[in-house]
Amino acid sequence: MENNLRALEAQPLVMDCAKFVELVQLIVDEEATSEEEQLFKDHYEKCKHCLNYYEIEKSAVAVIKNKISKNSPPPELANQIRAKILES
Ligand SMILES: [Zn+2]
Repeated sequence: MENNLRALEAQPLVMDCAKFVELVQLIVDEEATSEEEQLFKDHYEKCKHCLNYYEIEKSAVAVIKNKISKNSPPPELANQIRAKILES
């Protein structure tokens, strides 16, 4: 843990796992800049845990997108999406 902190101080551009989670959202929404995409790739190539997280998140998003494109999404999903839209 202490070693990690020291590495972050020495190299401010090295991303931590919390930042990676934020970046995953941008990546799956295709809103990341090329710089962010590079940080993202650098991290998941070194961090198996985050690569795993990304794979799960990516398939979850694929499932949701697939459901939205169908004619009759389950009502609870439609409500969740509606709530999301109202929140933003
Ligand atoms: Zn990580």
